[in-house]
Amino acid sequence: MKKIIFFIAFQTIFFECCFSQKAPIPNNSNSLSPKLVIGIVIDQMRYDYIYKYWSKYGNGGFKRLVNEGYSCKNTNFNYVPTYTGPGHASIYTGTTPSIHGIVGNDWYDREVASRVYCVKDKSQKTIGTLNEKDSSGSMSPHRMLTTTITDELRLSNNKKSKVIGISLKDRGAVLPAGHMANAAYWMNSEGMWISSSYYMKNLPVWVNDFNAKSLTQKYLSQVWNTMLPINQYYESLSDTNAFESPYEGELLPIFPHNLPEIVKKEGNELIKATPFGNSILKDFAIEAMKAEQMGKGNFCDFLTLSFSSTDYLGHQFGPTSVEVEDCYLRLDKDIAELLKFLDTYLGKNNVLVFLTADHAAPENPVYLKSLGIGAGTIDGTTFKSFNETLKNVYGDSIIEKYINQQFYLNNKVINRRKLNKVEIENYIASQVIGTKGVAASITRTSLCNSEFNEAPRMLIQKGFNQKRSGDIMLNYEPGWMDYVTLGTTHGSAYSYDTHVPLLWYGYSIKPGSSVDPVNITDIAPTLALLLNIQFPNGCTGKPIQVLFK
Ligand code: ZN
Ligand code: ZN
Repeated sequence: MKKIIFFIAFQTIFFECCFSQKAPIPNNSNSLSPKLVIGIVIDQMRYDYIYKYWSKYGNGGFKRLVNEGYSCKNTNFNYVPTYTGPGHASIYTGTTPSIHGIVGNDWYDREVASRVYCVKDKSQKTIGTLNEKDSSGSMSPHRMLTTTITDELRLSNNKKSKVIGISLKDRGAVLPAGHMANAAYWMNSEGMWISSSYYMKNLPVWVNDFNAKSLTQKYLSQVWNTMLPINQYYESLSDTNAFESPYEGELLPIFPHNLPEIVKKEGNELIKATPFGNSILKDFAIEAMKAEQMGKGNFCDFLTLSFSSTDYLGHQFGPTSVEVEDCYLRLDKDIAELLKFLDTYLGKNNVLVFLTADHAAPENPVYLKSLGIGAGTIDGTTFKSFNETLKNVYGDSIIEKYINQQFYLNNKVINRRKLNKVEIENYIASQVIGTKGVAASITRTSLCNSEFNEAPRMLIQKGFNQKRSGDIMLNYEPGWMDYVTLGTTHGSAYSYDTHVPLLWYGYSIKPGSSVDPVNITDIAPTLALLLNIQFPNGCTGKPIQVLFK
């Protein structure tokens, strides 16, 4: 008996010595997958920005992606709200908020009776700051209910692939990188790259070294002037138009923007709302690839990048501003530098790059109105008086919250007073239509009991999560938005918010373009087939067939 036990024990030791960690990992570079995937999301990039500024772009950036890659020219978001959190989640999970659960940047959580932020995780700590009170790193993907394509890559080979997410915004880094990422990095208010204890205990040496270079301060020590003579920005409105917000302390929102002065008021976070936020992200991404040897191992790695200065500037100045145009011309150079780096670092054919956006954006509503086009803004307080009216009808406060163009009803009051919830939903839905700028309303009951197959109702349904969404959803008229009178915002079901670029480049991609309809949720399953791995577990998108012909 003893002999047998000894033999089994010996056999186990022998097996572990020979076949466990010490066994050489076979080379997976079987050309069945690229060495590195880079997902580039440009925050708030409209599809037309590729063509609007085409004549001013250099040959190495956007033009190179279009000319040497494949352009799916008719790519749209297939749900609302078209916000940053849901956008990044949908690109990487291949499904809509109805399934992945990221129904907004923030939403109302009935269980805790408060507003929650899509990646906030109080159980995590900030990594990379000496300031105990800095909670900008207490983030994780715990609210995302499905796997991402990046999770599936890590699952496919027992975590041999390396996945890193980088963005100026926490949600732009955390959601794409998925639940199993090696790391995600974003920028805190001091202009430093930080992370969360969800990923690591300490920042890697290379991140500390990068922060020590104080590049944020260097970028902000220059005055921001236009890259080209300002009279060449003829696609945009005059720089002195009346639809833009100035930086803090600036008299007028016009060039040159004196960043060394503005930074005194706004702090280092200012870099996010300048084109140099994109430049420092590019610098950090190149450093990440080199330091982490991404694409140099035996298994395919995945780097997710989200350039978000475009969104900060879009909100502040609007899509027809010289500032936004200049930001894209500079971003074009940053992308050119990234592609050039990849040429020598790994070679174009070993890298698969895709570029898209998390949503697009409309023109400023006041500007549209000045042109005779129907547009306007809806102030959330409009609905406050509405709540008072309902109090008179039902004798209690029936609306618990209004957020993301959704009313959350107070279920406790309704149950306590034994009121008919469906009747209340229908009553509010019919009353709210009287508000100027509201085009349609749709109730929870109708979303749960019918299947809509045309926009905008279909998009509302795909953005509706039975547990997390409200009870009455509003759809504004085209051109109408919340609050904004200067700059712009986004979130609607209309093409100005849903139509985004989608460019594929590098590994196995043949040059070309197509106008076939593509949903944003088609990106993840397409990646899955290009990498020969499983689709994300809630995936509802379909692979883009033309890329495989
Ligand atoms: Zn965004
Ligand atoms: Zn935005």
